Amino acid sequence: MATDIVQKRPPLMSLDEALDFVFKDVAVVAEHESVPTFEADGRVLAQSLVSQLQVPPQDNSSMDGYAIRVEDLTSAGARLKVTQRIPAGHTGHALSAGEAARIFTGAPIPAGANAVVMQEDAQLDSSPSTPEVSISVTPSLGQWIRRSGEDVTRGAVVLAKGTRLDPAALGLAASIGVAQVNVVRRPRVALFSTGDELVMPGDVSPQDMRPGAIYNSNRFFLRALLVRAGCDVTDLGIVPDHLDATLQVLKDAATDHDLILTSGGVSVGEEDHVKPAVEALGRLNLWQISMKPGKPFAFGFVNSDTSQGQKKAHFMGLPGNPVSSFVTFQLLVRPFLLALQGVAAVRPAPYRVQANFDFAKPDKRREFLRVKRNQQGSLDLFPNQSSGVLTSVVWGDGVVDNPGAQPIQSGDWVDFYPFAEWLQ
Ligand code: AMP
Ligand code: MG
Repeated sequence: MATDIVQKRPPLMSLDEALDFVFKDVAVVAEHESVPTFEADGRVLAQSLVSQLQVPPQDNSSMDGYAIRVEDLTSAGARLKVTQRIPAGHTGHALSAGEAARIFTGAPIPAGANAVVMQEDAQLDSSPSTPEVSISVTPSLGQWIRRSGEDVTRGAVVLAKGTRLDPAALGLAASIGVAQVNVVRRPRVALFSTGDELVMPGDVSPQDMRPGAIYNSNRFFLRALLVRAGCDVTDLGIVPDHLDATLQVLKDAATDHDLILTSGGVSVGEEDHVKPAVEALGRLNLWQISMKPGKPFAFGFVNSDTSQGQKKAHFMGLPGNPVSSFVTFQLLVRPFLLALQGVAAVRPAPYRVQANFDFAKPDKRREFLRVKRNQQGSLDLFPNQSSGVLTSVVWGDGVVDNPGAQPIQSGDWVDFYPFAEWLQ
């Protein structure tokens, strides 16, 4: 029997441990800026928004119809004198006994009125000198009235510090009169890809590709993902697989970026220079996670040139395989970038969904399988789960988070993360 030399190495860090590690290191961007609410989509509030008014400001009608006093309508077919007309944006005057006000959606309820009858339940008679309306229903107290403050009360925190603004939040901010918001400065991220095999689309046509060359796909989705996560991106292009070149780019980028994000070059090959370069210029706090795809994920920091006054940038190195790069971005980089902007709850939370597939041979690592929801609401599996097959990510609309070594049978409930939430 051959001698088995089992190389003992410490077990890889789990994804949760890695996330703890990454979050422990986050220094929230301290600079804030005031931006027009119109331009604040995707920005993170540096200050809570407190309402100085009630929304709606007054009780108002939620229907086109007649504002009435319920006590006047005790008998069916009662007639009321229509003594005023209140369109939205105008105010009426107090309603006396036996009177109704013609009212429109959004118009303030006049004093004395305590319900609105919709116009479909009312018959107007314009022949008398003061028109009259007969009401065919017995209204209940308060019907079709939107109450002052039912949306927002004065003094309420409408949007808390650390909220990432989305279109609905912009509308809510506007509803309390906020035209400018204080937000956290966008994180500045330097991005580069490594790999001598990489060629840019447009530089070389598909017919002219030399053997061994591939197009740089990671650069395209990583840049777009960074922008969606609210970052200012400095795209440094492709850095050759040389230690010196890698050192120089890292050192320069550390002077004015919060994060340096790379793809490729963090495995164990001789051509993988990113890891040693980071170790030479700063520190690698974490390298390799027990997950599939995405094992070669690196995290640490890089110091700038001392002549630049010794600045420091966070460093995240993603694997070169496109699917690994995509998945580690979503599970580690995006939460980190949100935390950097002061967003509180950044860990992705899964949904429980039923699998519509069998997965008999799980990896021993925690695995993220590209799947798509079908019409029945269960999940179909992309047949090729290789970390190089980017088609799986485009076809899929999310990933199943499968614990290590756990086979899946059709009908099993699994943890599912929809991509849609990660692309916001
Ligand atoms: P690496 O992590 O550098 O060892 O790369 C792993 C695999 O991913 C190799 O097959 C690379 O050719 C491929 N790869 C690396 N970077 C990219 C990129 N930017 N776009 C597409 N494929 C890449
Ligand atoms: Mg490489």
